[in-house]
This record gives sequence, C-alpha cells and structure tokens, in this order.
Amino acid sequence: MKPSVLVVGGGIIGLSCAFEASSHGFAVTVLERENFGGQASGAAAGMLAPFSENAEGPDAFFRLGLDSLRLYPEWVRRVEEASGRRVEFLRTGSLQVALHEADELPLVRRSEWQRPFGSAFERVSGDTLRRLEPGLTGAAVSALYCPEECHVHAPKLVEALELACLRVGVRLVAQAGELLSVEAGGSSGVRVTASAAGRHTAELAVWCAGAWSGLHGERLGVPVPVHPIRGQICAYRSMPFEVRHMIFSSQAYWVRKSDGSLICGASEDVSGFDKSVTAAGIGRLVRWSGKLFPSLRETEPAHRWAGLRPATLDGWPLLGPLPTMPNVFLATGHYRNGILLSPATAAAACDWLEGRADRTAGRLAPFSPERFASQGS
Ligand SMILES: Cc1cc2nc3c(=O)[nH]c(=O)nc-3n(C[C@H](O)[C@H](O)[C@H](O)COP(=O)(O)OP(=O)(O)OC[C@H]3O[C@@H](n4cnc5c(N)ncnc54)[C@H](O)[C@@H]3O)c2cc1C
Repeated sequence: MKPSVLVVGGGIIGLSCAFEASSHGFAVTVLERENFGGQASGAAAGMLAPFSENAEGPDAFFRLGLDSLRLYPEWVRRVEEASGRRVEFLRTGSLQVALHEADELPLVRRSEWQRPFGSAFERVSGDTLRRLEPGLTGAAVSALYCPEECHVHAPKLVEALELACLRVGVRLVAQAGELLSVEAGGSSGVRVTASAAGRHTAELAVWCAGAWSGLHGERLGVPVPVHPIRGQICAYRSMPFEVRHMIFSSQAYWVRKSDGSLICGASEDVSGFDKSVTAAGIGRLVRWSGKLFPSLRETEPAHRWAGLRPATLDGWPLLGPLPTMPNVFLATGHYRNGILLSPATAAAACDWLEGRADRTAGRLAPFSPERFASQGS
C-alpha cells in the first residue's frame, strides 16, 4: 500500500499535487485554511506564457515553464474528464506588441534564443497587426507572434480540480483555520495541527501554502523565503471589438475570456497580506488599456480585484524536500507563473512521493528550497 499524504494549502498547486497523487493511488487529504482556490489561484489571468514571461535566457526556469506548458493539453483532458467541467483551455497564441522601434530589439533577441525551443515565432508588421487585432492602436509599430502560448480560465480550472480531487477520492478539508504546529520525523510521519480542523497525520506531506508559506518557517524548522507580492487586475465587460490573441506590452497584458470579458493585469506591489485594490494600481492598467486599445479610453473596468503572489528572492519556485523534515516536500513560491507551472509541479511532487525523485533530481536542483541558505534568508 502507498503512504498516506497530507497536502497543506488548497490553491492550484495543492489541488494539482493532490489530484496527481490520488491518481497514482495515494490516500490524500488536503487541508485548506479557508476556501479552496480563494487566494492567488482564483485571482489569476490564467496565461500559460513561458516565452513571453522569460526575457532572460534558456535557464532552468524557462525550461520548467516550457515542460509544464507541454503537459497542459493532457492535464486539462484529465481534469475535465475527472470533473465533468470545462476549464476554457484556449490556444490563442500571443502577440508581444512594440509601440516604439526601441521596443523591437529586445523582442528580436528574445525570439532568437527562444526559437530553438519550438515556437514558430513570427515578426508581424504594424499593418498585419491591425488586421489581426483591429482594436489595437495605430501607434503599434510591430509585434512578435508566438503561436504556442495559451490560456485557461483560472477560477474554472481550480473549481474543476477541486471537483476532480473529490471524484478521485481526495479528502478535502476546508476552513481548517490557522496552523498551530507541525511535527515530523520518525515512524509517526507528519502531524499537522490547525486551529479549527485539529490534528491530521500522514506519512508524507506536500506544503503548498502559497504566499503564506513564509509564515510557516518557524513551525517547519527552517526559513521559507516566500513573501506576498500583490497583483491588482481588472476586467472590461462590453467591448466594441474582439481581442483574438493574448496581448503583451511592456507595461501590462490583456486576455479575452470566453464570456467576452477582457482581463487586463497586473500590478506588482508590496502590501503585506493586504488584498485591496488601489486607485494607483488599477489606474495604471486603465491608462495602458486606453493606450493600447483607443476605444477603451473612456471606459471603466467592470471588475477590479487583487491576489497575493507567492514570491521568492529570485522569482523561482521552491520545489524539494525540507532539510529539517525530509518527509515534507515544499511546493511553493510560484510567483507569477503558478497556473502555468501547476502540472509540472504536480508531476515533480508525485515523483518524490513515489520515491522516484532521482528522475527529476537534475532538473529540480535549481529550485531546491535550500538554495538561499548561504544568504541566511
Ligand atoms: C493578479 C494575478 C494574476 C496572475 N496571473 C497569472 C497567470 O496569468 N498565469 C500564471 O501562471 N500565474 C498567474 N498568477 C500567479 C498564480 O496565481 C500563482 O503563482 C498561483 O496561484 C500560486 O498558487 P498557490 O496554490 O501556491 O497559491 P494560492 O492560490 O494562494 O493558494 C495557497 C493556499 O494555501 C492556503 N493556506 C495558507 N496558509 C495555510 C495553512 N496554514 N493551512 C492550510 N492552508 C493554508 C491559502 O488559504 C490558499 O488557499 C497571477 C497571480 C495574480 C495575483
């Protein structure tokens, strides 16, 4: 019989790890402090965009994102089949728009190092761009088209994962309350006590508490260098034009959902655990929406919301067992890309649960939770 597993945190990362583990025959319980998908995962735009999100170079983070993107079609098929829900997985491709000639050079450089990784990039002239996206400003000089990037409806994916987990036999515990203690080691496995849900014991645990993971360092016996970065985001309801691709500019992105709404995101600011929206945060998105789509100049977004991204010092996730508690796997710190990285994270966590961590050890080494230890963080 396979070991029992406790997953702490019921965002997209926790639910994905739970679904994958349960599908591989583990008896899984997920402990969620409040409601499943109620934090960053339910707030996200749902873009699966490793090419557009990585300007740096073909590093381990880019490769992890690309692997995860390529796992998505099968992942969505399994989640939709298990849940009976659609998650609006749309292969629209993306357009990175240059508003000035100076914006073009970084796009060309990026496409040169990314091209060998598979996406059939195309440079698109300003005229072609306006044919592709008639709502875009005439000031745009060109764009880089990346056909491989896609998006999902993040809240629907999280809901579907919750349902899929239930259907494959995961025990879901919501409103568990605050974390009181964690004990791990020896033959007793991992014991987690929460203020409302009481004590839960399992042989192995996967820690997926998102932006709150950093608060758990003391109880886990090791600093967890994760902190919240607020992302403010908004949605327009009725637009006089269609937006067919995901659109990126240097200052914001736009993605149209199946219900016709156009999401524009997202700000990045430090506000502790405050999830309120501010005039400055949304105002910048509104200004840029008017700049890219002139017919939005007089339009106010119909919805505004915010979520807390789990950020690390280098922007890369923490994936691996804790040095202090080797039967606890940390899967957090996914920052701007947790929706994209969820299938790859679930696969990595499941390999570790199965005792097959050597399969991915090389690839996961750059994401070791211990990588900041020498910095004393
Ligand atoms: C505005 C915005 C837009 C974004 N857009 C994208 C995008 O387009 N594409 C993309 O890939 N990513 C995007 N992201 C990032 C993505 O949302 C996150 O990386 C991802 O949701 C992180 O998932 P998570 O499960 O780790 O965290 P969360 O969804 O925050 O889940 C963590 C869960 O842990 C729970 N928890 C905390 N403490 C405890 C405890 N003690 N016990 C039990 N449970 C606990 C919390 O209640 C929460 O439900 C966006 C984020 C924001 C804010």
